[in-house]
Amino acid sequence: MKLPDNFPTLPDFPAGEVWLAGAGPGDPRLLTVLALHAVSNADTIVHDALVDPRILDMTGKNAERIFAGKRGGRPSPQQAEINAILVDRARAGRRVLRLKGGDPFVFGRGWDEATALAEAGIRFRVIPGVTSGLAAAALAGIPATSRDTNHAVILAAGHRAQDGKSAADWEALAKVGQPIILYMPMAQLADITAALARGGMPSDMPAAIVQGASTAEERVIESSLSTLAADAEREGIGAPAIVVIGRIAGLRRGLLPSMVGWQ
Ligand code: SAH
Repeated sequence: MKLPDNFPTLPDFPAGEVWLAGAGPGDPRLLTVLALHAVSNADTIVHDALVDPRILDMTGKNAERIFAGKRGGRPSPQQAEINAILVDRARAGRRVLRLKGGDPFVFGRGWDEATALAEAGIRFRVIPGVTSGLAAAALAGIPATSRDTNHAVILAAGHRAQDGKSAADWEALAKVGQPIILYMPMAQLADITAALARGGMPSDMPAAIVQGASTAEERVIESSLSTLAADAEREGIGAPAIVVIGRIAGLRRGLLPSMVGWQ
Protein backbone atom coordinates (compact mmCIF):
# COMPACT_ATOMS: atom_id res chain seq x y z
CA MET A 1 0.00 0.00 0.00
CA LYS A 2 1.28 3.42 -0.95
CA LEU A 3 0.02 6.46 0.91
CA PRO A 4 -2.13 8.75 -1.25
CA ASP A 5 -0.28 11.73 -2.71
CA ASN A 6 -2.39 14.14 -0.69
CA PHE A 7 -1.73 12.33 2.62
CA PRO A 8 -0.47 14.80 5.25
CA THR A 9 3.31 15.05 5.56
CA LEU A 10 4.77 12.76 8.19
CA PRO A 11 6.95 14.50 10.77
CA ASP A 12 10.73 14.16 10.83
CA PHE A 13 12.06 12.00 13.63
CA PRO A 14 14.89 14.19 14.94
CA ALA A 15 17.93 12.73 16.69
CA GLY A 16 17.62 13.00 20.45
CA GLU A 17 13.83 12.81 20.50
CA VAL A 18 11.68 10.08 22.06
CA TRP A 19 8.44 8.97 20.45
CA LEU A 20 6.10 7.26 22.85
CA ALA A 21 3.83 5.21 20.62
CA GLY A 22 1.10 2.61 20.85
CA ALA A 23 1.42 -0.47 18.67
CA GLY A 24 -2.25 -1.50 18.87
CA PRO A 25 -3.49 -4.90 19.99
CA GLY A 26 -1.13 -7.05 17.92
CA ASP A 27 -1.85 -7.33 14.21
CA PRO A 28 0.60 -4.98 12.45
CA ARG A 29 -2.23 -3.77 10.21
CA LEU A 30 -3.70 -2.07 13.25
CA LEU A 31 -0.67 0.16 13.68
CA THR A 32 -1.37 3.80 13.00
CA VAL A 33 0.41 5.36 10.04
CA LEU A 34 2.44 7.47 12.46
CA ALA A 35 3.49 4.43 14.51
CA LEU A 36 4.58 2.62 11.36
CA HIS A 37 6.54 5.71 10.31
CA ALA A 38 8.21 5.70 13.73
CA VAL A 39 9.03 1.99 13.50
CA SER A 40 10.73 2.51 10.15
CA ASN A 41 12.75 5.53 11.28
CA ALA A 42 13.81 4.83 14.87
CA ASP A 43 17.44 3.99 15.77
CA THR A 44 16.48 2.51 19.12
CA ILE A 45 13.25 0.71 19.91
CA VAL A 46 12.38 0.02 23.53
CA HIS A 47 9.41 -2.34 23.54
CA ASP A 48 7.14 -4.37 25.79
CA ALA A 49 6.35 -8.06 25.65
CA LEU A 50 2.96 -7.27 24.11
CA VAL A 51 4.37 -5.70 20.97
CA ASP A 52 3.89 -8.28 18.24
CA PRO A 53 7.13 -9.78 16.82
CA ARG A 54 5.84 -9.07 13.30
CA ILE A 55 6.00 -5.38 14.14
CA LEU A 56 9.53 -5.64 15.53
CA ASP A 57 10.58 -7.36 12.32
CA MET A 58 9.67 -4.17 10.47
CA THR A 59 12.30 -2.10 12.21
CA GLY A 60 15.36 -0.91 10.32
CA LYS A 61 18.17 -3.46 9.95
CA ASN A 62 20.53 -1.53 12.17
CA ALA A 63 18.01 -0.45 14.76
CA GLU A 64 18.88 -1.33 18.32
CA ARG A 65 16.11 -3.27 20.07
CA ILE A 66 15.74 -3.15 23.81
CA PHE A 67 13.23 -5.39 25.51
CA ALA A 68 11.61 -3.85 28.57
CA GLY A 69 8.93 -6.18 29.79
CA LYS A 70 8.22 -9.38 31.65
CA ARG A 71 9.85 -12.50 30.30
CA GLY A 72 9.96 -16.06 31.60
CA GLY A 73 8.48 -15.14 34.96
CA ARG A 74 11.40 -12.88 35.81
CA PRO A 75 10.36 -9.51 37.18
CA SER A 76 10.20 -6.72 34.66
CA PRO A 77 12.85 -4.03 34.80
CA GLN A 78 12.00 -1.32 37.27
CA GLN A 79 10.23 1.65 35.79
CA ALA A 80 13.13 3.87 36.83
CA GLU A 81 15.49 1.68 34.81
CA ILE A 82 13.34 2.01 31.70
CA ASN A 83 13.05 5.76 32.16
CA ALA A 84 16.84 5.96 32.45
CA ILE A 85 17.33 3.99 29.22
CA LEU A 86 15.02 6.36 27.35
CA VAL A 87 16.82 9.43 28.69
CA ASP A 88 20.31 8.01 28.08
CA ARG A 89 19.61 6.92 24.53
CA ALA A 90 17.99 10.25 23.68
CA ARG A 91 20.98 12.13 25.15
CA ALA A 92 23.25 9.94 23.03
CA GLY A 93 21.50 11.47 20.03
CA ARG A 94 19.42 8.50 18.99
CA ARG A 95 15.89 8.52 17.62
CA VAL A 96 14.20 6.57 20.37
CA LEU A 97 10.89 4.82 19.87
CA ARG A 98 9.22 3.63 23.06
CA LEU A 99 6.68 1.17 21.69
CA LYS A 100 3.92 -0.19 23.89
CA GLY A 101 1.01 -2.51 23.28
CA GLY A 102 -2.33 -0.82 22.61
CA ASP A 103 -2.31 2.85 23.55
CA PRO A 104 0.66 4.20 25.53
CA PHE A 105 -1.53 6.14 27.94
CA VAL A 106 -3.98 3.33 28.80
CA PHE A 107 -2.68 1.12 31.64
CA GLY A 108 0.77 1.27 30.14
CA ARG A 109 2.86 3.48 32.40
CA GLY A 110 3.16 5.89 29.49
CA TRP A 111 2.48 8.84 31.70
CA ASP A 112 5.31 7.87 34.06
CA GLU A 113 7.72 7.76 31.15
CA ALA A 114 6.48 11.01 29.65
CA THR A 115 6.96 12.66 33.03
CA ALA A 116 10.50 11.34 33.33
CA LEU A 117 11.29 12.68 29.86
CA ALA A 118 9.76 16.05 30.68
CA GLU A 119 11.78 16.24 33.89
CA ALA A 120 14.96 15.40 32.01
CA GLY A 121 14.20 18.06 29.41
CA ILE A 122 14.00 15.51 26.57
CA ARG A 123 11.67 16.37 23.72
CA PHE A 124 9.06 13.73 23.07
CA ARG A 125 5.93 13.05 21.08
CA VAL A 126 2.99 10.84 22.01
CA ILE A 127 1.43 8.69 19.30
CA PRO A 128 -1.87 7.15 20.39
CA GLY A 129 -2.61 3.54 19.54
CA VAL A 130 -5.67 1.35 19.22
CA THR A 131 -6.24 0.26 22.78
CA SER A 132 -6.71 -3.49 23.21
CA GLY A 133 -9.89 -3.20 25.30
CA LEU A 134 -11.81 -1.50 22.52
CA ALA A 135 -10.13 -3.49 19.74
CA ALA A 136 -10.77 -6.85 21.43
CA ALA A 137 -14.43 -5.97 21.90
CA ALA A 138 -14.86 -4.75 18.32
CA LEU A 139 -13.10 -7.76 16.81
CA ALA A 140 -15.43 -10.02 18.80
CA GLY A 141 -18.47 -8.16 17.50
CA ILE A 142 -19.08 -6.34 20.77
CA PRO A 143 -19.79 -2.61 20.42
CA ALA A 144 -18.30 -0.50 23.20
CA THR A 145 -21.54 1.47 23.14
CA SER A 146 -24.90 1.03 21.51
CA ARG A 147 -27.79 3.41 21.81
CA ASP A 148 -29.99 0.75 23.38
CA THR A 149 -27.61 -0.43 26.07
CA ASN A 150 -25.20 2.18 27.41
CA HIS A 151 -24.07 5.77 27.28
CA ALA A 152 -20.75 5.16 29.01
CA VAL A 153 -18.19 2.40 29.27
CA ILE A 154 -15.74 1.76 32.08
CA LEU A 155 -12.16 0.76 31.28
CA ALA A 156 -10.73 -0.84 34.40
CA ALA A 157 -7.54 -2.65 35.39
CA GLY A 158 -8.32 -6.03 36.91
CA HIS A 159 -5.02 -6.60 38.62
CA ARG A 160 -4.60 -5.32 42.11
CA ALA A 161 -2.08 -2.56 42.53
CA GLN A 162 0.91 -3.69 44.55
CA ASP A 163 0.21 -1.28 47.35
CA GLY A 164 -3.41 -2.47 47.43
CA LYS A 165 -4.56 1.13 47.52
CA SER A 166 -5.61 1.83 44.00
CA ALA A 167 -7.85 -1.22 43.51
CA ALA A 168 -11.19 -0.23 42.03
CA ASP A 169 -14.30 -0.19 44.17
CA TRP A 170 -16.10 -2.89 42.18
CA GLU A 171 -19.33 -2.71 44.16
CA ALA A 172 -19.61 0.99 43.40
CA LEU A 173 -18.81 0.39 39.73
CA ALA A 174 -21.59 -2.22 39.54
CA LYS A 175 -24.05 0.39 40.76
CA VAL A 176 -23.14 2.72 37.90
CA GLY A 177 -24.96 0.29 35.60
CA GLN A 178 -22.52 0.67 32.71
CA PRO A 179 -20.46 -2.04 31.02
CA ILE A 180 -16.96 -2.74 32.24
CA ILE A 181 -14.00 -3.60 30.03
CA LEU A 182 -11.33 -5.24 32.13
CA TYR A 183 -7.65 -5.20 31.26
CA MET A 184 -5.32 -7.70 33.00
CA PRO A 185 -8.40 -9.50 34.30
CA MET A 186 -7.27 -13.01 35.10
CA ALA A 187 -5.62 -12.89 38.52
CA GLN A 188 -8.57 -11.32 40.31
CA LEU A 189 -11.50 -12.41 38.18
CA ALA A 190 -13.30 -14.43 40.87
CA ASP A 191 -12.96 -11.60 43.41
CA ILE A 192 -14.06 -8.97 40.92
CA THR A 193 -17.15 -10.83 39.72
CA ALA A 194 -18.15 -11.58 43.32
CA ALA A 195 -17.82 -7.91 44.23
CA LEU A 196 -19.83 -6.84 41.17
CA ALA A 197 -22.59 -9.26 42.23
CA ARG A 198 -22.53 -7.80 45.74
CA GLY A 199 -22.90 -4.40 44.12
CA GLY A 200 -26.16 -5.55 42.57
CA MET A 201 -25.12 -6.65 39.09
CA PRO A 202 -27.46 -9.47 37.96
CA SER A 203 -25.86 -12.92 37.86
CA ASP A 204 -26.99 -13.47 34.26
CA MET A 205 -25.36 -10.27 33.01
CA PRO A 206 -23.69 -11.18 29.69
CA ALA A 207 -19.91 -11.32 29.67
CA ALA A 208 -17.22 -12.28 27.19
CA ILE A 209 -13.52 -13.03 27.28
CA VAL A 210 -11.37 -12.17 24.29
CA GLN A 211 -7.91 -13.69 24.37
CA GLY A 212 -5.15 -12.68 21.97
CA ALA A 213 -7.33 -10.25 20.06
CA SER A 214 -6.12 -9.69 16.47
CA THR A 215 -3.51 -12.47 16.73
CA ALA A 216 -3.61 -16.02 15.35
CA GLU A 217 -4.48 -17.20 18.86
CA GLU A 218 -7.63 -15.08 19.12
CA ARG A 219 -10.41 -16.80 21.08
CA VAL A 220 -13.75 -15.53 22.32
CA ILE A 221 -15.63 -17.17 25.17
CA GLU A 222 -19.19 -16.12 25.96
CA SER A 223 -20.24 -16.26 29.57
CA SER A 224 -22.18 -14.40 32.24
CA LEU A 225 -21.27 -12.68 35.49
CA SER A 226 -21.83 -15.75 37.65
CA THR A 227 -19.99 -18.21 35.37
CA LEU A 228 -17.16 -15.97 34.15
CA ALA A 229 -14.40 -16.97 36.56
CA ALA A 230 -15.13 -20.70 36.26
CA ASP A 231 -15.39 -20.51 32.47
CA ALA A 232 -12.07 -18.67 32.24
CA GLU A 233 -10.44 -21.33 34.39
CA ARG A 234 -11.97 -24.25 32.51
CA GLU A 235 -10.97 -22.81 29.14
CA GLY A 236 -7.45 -22.16 30.36
CA ILE A 237 -7.57 -18.49 29.44
CA GLY A 238 -4.17 -16.85 29.72
CA ALA A 239 -2.72 -13.42 29.03
CA PRO A 240 -3.31 -11.31 27.14
CA ALA A 241 -7.06 -11.26 27.57
CA ILE A 242 -9.80 -8.67 27.84
CA VAL A 243 -13.05 -9.28 29.69
CA VAL A 244 -16.23 -7.43 28.80
CA ILE A 245 -19.07 -7.46 31.33
CA GLY A 246 -22.38 -5.85 30.43
CA ARG A 247 -25.28 -5.99 28.04
CA ILE A 248 -23.00 -5.05 25.14
CA ALA A 249 -21.36 -8.49 25.52
CA GLY A 250 -24.68 -10.09 24.55
CA LEU A 251 -25.00 -8.12 21.32
CA ARG A 252 -22.46 -10.09 19.28
CA ARG A 253 -24.77 -13.07 18.66
CA GLY A 254 -26.90 -11.18 16.16
CA LEU A 255 -23.82 -10.05 14.21
CA LEU A 256 -21.90 -13.30 13.96
CA PRO A 257 -23.70 -14.84 10.95
CA SER A 258 -22.50 -12.04 8.69
CA MET A 259 -19.31 -10.94 10.40
CA VAL A 260 -16.26 -11.66 8.29
CA GLY A 261 -13.37 -13.28 10.17
CA TRP A 262 -10.52 -10.98 10.95
CA GLN A 263 -7.55 -13.07 9.89
N1 SAH B 1 -1.60 -0.10 26.90
C1 SAH B 1 -2.30 -1.34 26.60
C2 SAH B 1 -2.68 -2.10 27.85
C3 SAH B 1 -1.52 -2.59 28.67
S1 SAH B 1 -2.02 -3.54 30.02
C4 SAH B 1 -3.53 -1.04 25.73
O1 SAH B 1 -3.90 0.12 25.57
O2 SAH B 1 -4.10 -1.99 25.22
C5 SAH B 1 -1.86 -5.18 29.37
C6 SAH B 1 -3.22 -5.79 29.14
O3 SAH B 1 -3.76 -5.38 27.90
C7 SAH B 1 -3.23 -7.31 29.06
O4 SAH B 1 -3.16 -7.91 30.33
C8 SAH B 1 -4.56 -7.54 28.41
O5 SAH B 1 -5.62 -7.38 29.34
C9 SAH B 1 -4.63 -6.39 27.43
N2 SAH B 1 -4.23 -6.78 26.06
C10 SAH B 1 -3.19 -6.32 25.36
N3 SAH B 1 -3.16 -6.87 24.13
C11 SAH B 1 -4.22 -7.69 24.05
C12 SAH B 1 -4.75 -8.54 23.03
N4 SAH B 1 -4.18 -8.66 21.82
N5 SAH B 1 -5.88 -9.25 23.31
C13 SAH B 1 -6.49 -9.14 24.51
N6 SAH B 1 -6.02 -8.36 25.51
C14 SAH B 1 -4.92 -7.64 25.28
